[in-house]
Amino acid sequence: MAVRISRAVLEAIISDASTTPTVERCGLLLGSADHVTAWLSVANVHPEPDQHFELDPATLIAVERAARQGHGPGVAGHYHSHPKGSAVPSLADAEAAAPDGRLWLMTAQGECRLWRSVAAMPLANDGTGALWLSRFVEEEIDVTD
Ligand SMILES: [Zn+2]
Repeated sequence: MAVRISRAVLEAIISDASTTPTVERCGLLLGSADHVTAWLSVANVHPEPDQHFELDPATLIAVERAARQGHGPGVAGHYHSHPKGSAVPSLADAEAAAPDGRLWLMTAQGECRLWRSVAAMPLANDGTGALWLSRFVEEEIDVTD
């Protein structure tokens, strides 16, 4: 299932990530499971923001509450940047991922790739990355104007 995201949203997220080139930038993807309609930059409150991210829980709770009450868009997932890496999930991302079907958009080196967290069969960690790759499936981005 391709996920629709406008070019403007993708470019804004890449631009947002570039504002903190040494620290992971993060935020929310708003809309539905197959159509991201907006984004929201959220503070990264992780104590080691150069290697990890944690969405500010107060913002997350406020946005989720507004959506539940019908006052705002739903949370489709979130995005974060990998300042020194590529736009694929890290081991830390796999460890943090709940198998809830949410979208994980990752941006690095000016590109975006989209992943969905899934319930995976546990695999032995053979050192090749099989363990963490099993936690995500990559989603095609249907870029709209
Ligand atoms: Zn990451």
